[in-house]
Amino acid sequence: MATDYDAPRKTDEDANEDSIEELKARRLDKNSGKVDEDEAAAAESFELPGADLSHEELAVQVLPRQEDEFTCASCFLVHHRSQLASQTKMICRDCAA
Ligand SMILES: [Zn+2]
Repeated sequence: MATDYDAPRKTDEDANEDSIEELKARRLDKNSGKVDEDEAAAAESFELPGADLSHEELAVQVLPRQEDEFTCASCFLVHHRSQLASQTKMICRDCAA
């Protein structure tokens, strides 16, 4: 019974692999005429730093502004509420000085 399921499954996979191999072969034929191997290698090496950057972005957590903090309307830096010089102007002590 189990072999009955395996048999058609295997033939399906074989058929898929064949078509994929055919597509790959066709792509290679097209690329060999247009793109140099050096260009392909450059494109591959270009992707690696991009992947590293996305990893860095994940590592750095951007915390939202805390409730006891404010964004200065003058320098646009986030300060602790104790640095707030004017509540109406929303500027820090550095900017008010
Ligand atoms: Zn400021």
